[in-house]
Amino acid sequence: VNKLTFNSHLTRQEKDLPPIHTLPVEDVLKNQLLALNNNSISISEDLNDAEVENAFFVADLGEILRQHLRWKATLPRVEPHYAVKCNPDPMILQLLAALGTGFDCASKAEIQSVLDLGVDPSRIIYANPCKQASFIRYAADKNVKMMTFDNAEELHKIKRYFPQAQLVLRILADDSKSLCQLGLKFGASLDSTSDLLRTARELGLNVIGVSFHVGSGCFDENAFADAVYRAKCVFDQASELGFDFQLLDVGGGFSHEHFSDGITFEKIAAVLGPAIDKYFPPNIRIIAEPGRYYAAPAFTIATHIIARRTVQHDRDETQFVDMEGVLNQVPSEGDVEQSYMFVYPKVLMKGDTFHFGVDLNEPKYTCSIWGPTCDSIDCITKNGTLPELLPGDWLYFQNMGAYTICAASQFNGFRKSNVTYTTTEASVLGILQGAI
Ligand code: PLP
Repeated sequence: VNKLTFNSHLTRQEKDLPPIHTLPVEDVLKNQLLALNNNSISISEDLNDAEVENAFFVADLGEILRQHLRWKATLPRVEPHYAVKCNPDPMILQLLAALGTGFDCASKAEIQSVLDLGVDPSRIIYANPCKQASFIRYAADKNVKMMTFDNAEELHKIKRYFPQAQLVLRILADDSKSLCQLGLKFGASLDSTSDLLRTARELGLNVIGVSFHVGSGCFDENAFADAVYRAKCVFDQASELGFDFQLLDVGGGFSHEHFSDGITFEKIAAVLGPAIDKYFPPNIRIIAEPGRYYAAPAFTIATHIIARRTVQHDRDETQFVDMEGVLNQVPSEGDVEQSYMFVYPKVLMKGDTFHFGVDLNEPKYTCSIWGPTCDSIDCITKNGTLPELLPGDWLYFQNMGAYTICAASQFNGFRKSNVTYTTTEASVLGILQGAI
């Protein structure tokens, strides 16, 4: 499918869309590898074309649709506003725009890319509590009214550049049970909220509600209920000061997992939904800013092993295999204090055989996996367990749609990986065409 007419309920315009396959992800991975190698499984010895060694993503747009339908069925009161920062892939944005979600944007460029799709500005929340003045002016010019704040200086800035904005007070949530703790940087503590509201009142600003973020990669659903209760307290403070709040924004941090001993979206919904209903009457509008919930499961990355370093381990004579150069798209899980995700490498191709992660009853080795740069900060994982692999073999990693490609670095001259699209839900093509 090379050219689809994008004709959703948003705008009528002809869009050149990239090709979208209608195959399972594994078939696309296989076809890509075969195509890269001119239909031969083994890579030519004297290859000089870097294309055949570069990592690439396969994006299943059907997964975005399934996640959306799951959200609607499980948490119907909450309107998702996709967090563009998580993965601003143009096809994700187009599909979600056609599905009618809102968008959480963090910058002028993100707002622009959503408006360019024909999305009405009222469907955007500018959810960055610290905004540069020119971006506030841009939002004012484009009539993107909803925006967050968590400090008095921001209120003065907004008063100056966009006094008609609809403001949402971002409060601090307990994010200690999450992979990425955003409260280190953002969120007003409850002992500062009434002062902030008073300042807003004095400035004549229109504060319409409260937002929070329990942290990205939250692994305790109770954090959501606790944050909803905090928001309710701020609603009470606001009403004492004469505000009439209409909006609660429950932020991001939603897991995409289905069946797991750990956190799942359904576990969060089972706690969050009742907490919202308990404290907020039906006339209060509830929105959320999910990022990884939508994007993570849609992307798989295939990576070529460019080098291997074998380390003899004296103590137990175990062979350690360090594989270098696997990924250049993933914030590392290794030494950084805040890791955005756990990664699980699987064997895609070993020698001349496609494995697709099937365990072949071979000896396994502990290994660490690194990106291709000359720096040691690009550790993908220190705790892999894989069969013996050689340069030229391929790994793949599933659930790689969130905070990967958008956070990729071109450090050391490496380039970002290409994305090939497929959909395992045929109706996606019609939705993008505006036919459904
Ligand atoms: N909203 C805001 C303000 C954020 O900063 C983020 C992530 O950093 C998100 C939403 C998305 O979070 P998640 O991907 O965990 O859903």
